[in-house]
Amino acid sequence: MTTDDGLSPELSEALRRAAQAPALVIACDYDGTLAPFVDDPTRAVPAPGAVAALERLAALPRTTVALLSGRNRAALAQVSGADTPVVLVGSHGSEWEGGFDTPLDDDEVALLARVGSDLEEIVSRTPGAHVESKPTAAVLHVRPVEDPDLRARAMSEAMAGPAALDGVFVTEGKNVVEIAVREASKGAAIERLVEQTGAQVAVFIGDDVTDERGFARLRSQDVGVKVGDGRTLADYRVPGIPAVVGLLTHLADLRS
Ligand SMILES: [Mg+2]
Repeated sequence: MTTDDGLSPELSEALRRAAQAPALVIACDYDGTLAPFVDDPTRAVPAPGAVAALERLAALPRTTVALLSGRNRAALAQVSGADTPVVLVGSHGSEWEGGFDTPLDDDEVALLARVGSDLEEIVSRTPGAHVESKPTAAVLHVRPVEDPDLRARAMSEAMAGPAALDGVFVTEGKNVVEIAVREASKGAAIERLVEQTGAQVAVFIGDDVTDERGFARLRSQDVGVKVGDGRTLADYRVPGIPAVVGLLTHLADLRS
């Protein structure tokens, strides 16, 4: 059962508790959580009301709002239209303001080049696919590939090829596989935000398999919210992006 705003009574109660925390972190995935999926990722704009709700929350005392995305940080800043005071964390939690904690070593640089060229080779035989380069990873995108057989073939070639190399960290999402040479996790990023702010409660909202590493690391008092269907470790669920905007707006009302 859900109320008019798409929030279950249990989630509403969890948000009411979260809103009372002296210090609060609200971490949100971007694509599929705040912005609908589109074929051209550079045009994935936030849903109506999303940025306003995030900025309202970020303006409240001892309230830290972070966008936690698989995108690289520059792309996240560009598409989201979000600026300070929202904290932007890119590359699945490894890329913060000021860059990465430590630069890649020579072996990691060579491995990343190998992964990138292997993926480019797959893309050259898969019309519509493309490779995205990130500072610590290369990403195969097959969402725009029209032929489902070609799409599946490209994904399985990536998994059997570069994704099987020694020393890589693979994250498979919806029509996307990211092959990183440095481990990154949204869970570690949430822990870092909590540590930096002393937050008693963290709220984390996400839709994809990569967000499960975030839900897995939440504490019992934290609030994990899965967007849409699919198996999840999150305690709560909302049906879609409009409900996320409703949730954020409701949380801002409660905490104001
Ligand atoms: Mg997502």
